[in-house]
Amino acid sequence: MTYDPNNVFAKILRGEIPCGKVYEDEHTLAFNDIHPQAPVHILVIPKGAYVSFDDFAAKASEAEIVALVRAVGKVAAMAGVTADGWRLLSNVGLNGHQEVPHLHVHVFGGRKLGAMIGKGG
Ligand code: AMP
Repeated sequence: MTYDPNNVFAKILRGEIPCGKVYEDEHTLAFNDIHPQAPVHILVIPKGAYVSFDDFAAKASEAEIVALVRAVGKVAAMAGVTADGWRLLSNVGLNGHQEVPHLHVHVFGGRKLGAMIGKGG
């Protein structure tokens, strides 16, 4: 999959559309999901143009990778979900039901999240 610079998260990064910012550093941005599926539902994205987790794993610098991992941890702590438990998820491609082609890690929490994965369809 090639990177589409007009995807919605690229527009957020360029400041063309607003977001509910939760956290930002040199390499990452985190903001509230527009259609939250849990009391806490935050998206953590790299600022670089990476389509998916596997694209990021192959091409990102070590600084970008460290920043994203640390940001996910910081966001979970900032959202207050670490004591009761939470979930991170990154959907990739067609089978992974990825809708936005810019890598994003979902951070869910604030309620019991149920079984790990649905039956598909
Ligand atoms: P995925 O299926 O993993 O690609 O998830 C994409 C997520 O992006 C969904 O949970 C959407 O609700 C969320 N989303 C789409 N547009 C926006 C936006 N403008 N601001 C915040 N979240 C968004």
